[in-house]
Amino acid sequence: MEANKKAAEFSQAASNAFPIPNNTSSPATLLLGRLEKVIDRGGGQYSALCPAHEDKSPSLSIKETDDRILLYCFAGCSAGDVTAAVGLSLADLYERPLDDRRLLLKRPRFDARALLLMLKHEATKVAIAAHDIAEGRTLTEDDRKALETASRRISRAMEAVT
Ligand SMILES: [Zn+2]
Repeated sequence: MEANKKAAEFSQAASNAFPIPNNTSSPATLLLGRLEKVIDRGGGQYSALCPAHEDKSPSLSIKETDDRILLYCFAGCSAGDVTAAVGLSLADLYERPLDDRRLLLKRPRFDARALLLMLKHEATKVAIAAHDIAEGRTLTEDDRKALETASRRISRAMEAVT
């Protein structure tokens, strides 16, 4: 029971630290919704009228991959022409906007030394308290609070590196 609660708390903390991007509108949904005469060819492949030129029969080929949408117009329009014609940009073809990706890469690194110093400090408090208890001394209310803080800080240190 207790272990389950802890695991749930930890996964909650982890998801707060790294929010899962809202992907309710995938690039495919976004693009296909703006095209005409979309034909699902299966396996993540579609064809549709190319919005970038006067298209009578679907000459735009669309292919979904793991992280992006590939476009090919048999009349020679570029992917940029196609996306611009339906009010999108090339970045919209990616699973996540390019700007978000850059932000993920630039996420500040935690300061390992500061983290270890904090842990050392808190561990020292715990050691002193353990020594006092072993000597038969009763912990004061302040000591007890300091130990609770130490426990909380040590537990939370993990969040900085996950
Ligand atoms: Zn075209």
